[in-house]
Amino acid sequence: MVNPEEIRFVCKRCGNCCTDKDTLVNITYLDILKLIKSLKLDLKEILDVIGFYVFDQKLTKETLEKMVISPIETERGLTFTGLLKNSSGDCFFYDIKKLKCLIYNIRPMFCRTFPFSFYLPKFVDNKANVDIKISYTEKAKNYCPGIESDSPIIEFDYWSQIGNETLVELEKNLLFNERWNNRVKNRKVVPNVKNYVSEILKTTYKKA
Ligand code: SF4
Ligand code: SF4
Repeated sequence: MVNPEEIRFVCKRCGNCCTDKDTLVNITYLDILKLIKSLKLDLKEILDVIGFYVFDQKLTKETLEKMVISPIETERGLTFTGLLKNSSGDCFFYDIKKLKCLIYNIRPMFCRTFPFSFYLPKFVDNKANVDIKISYTEKAKNYCPGIESDSPIIEFDYWSQIGNETLVELEKNLLFNERWNNRVKNRKVVPNVKNYVSEILKTTYKKA
């Protein structure tokens, strides 16, 4: 963990986080809902821009507990949700000519929080006076020039606020996906991606 006084970052707009072939942008059900509502997408259109990625190996209980975005049951087995990439490996929403994100104002949580991870001793609902910890993600250490020593020290309060909002969103996502997986287990719903997105559409959307 890095001391808050030593955490540096400014985005240098290199596009590495949008074009790295090995980076998949994980998304929460709230990210999906925001995309649908903001871009006015129907069921088919949203399924054209998000992916349900099947794990290529059986996950242990320990691995599952460590996962930030909880996986969901689908017709193809346990999957995690993420933005699709184009044939070059860039994010579907990255404009390679203009070097910018086409959905910047509604970009997923993963993108809003990059290059940081946030931690609490344990999840708390009260956002005030929370001792949040911030660290660089492993991906950021690999390819983000914005965290180098010539970048300014971050405004800790600003990022702490984002961190708190992120942890609340992750908890909501965990509960939503747990409920989905339990309904699948109890045969209350057919486990396919269309039904999962339909469940998301039944939830309330609030503009940020
Ligand atoms: S990799 Fe870092 S510097 Fe480059 S665009 Fe992403 S956040 Fe900005
Ligand atoms: S959604 Fe936008 S910010 Fe996020 S990876 Fe795609 S292009 Fe980059």
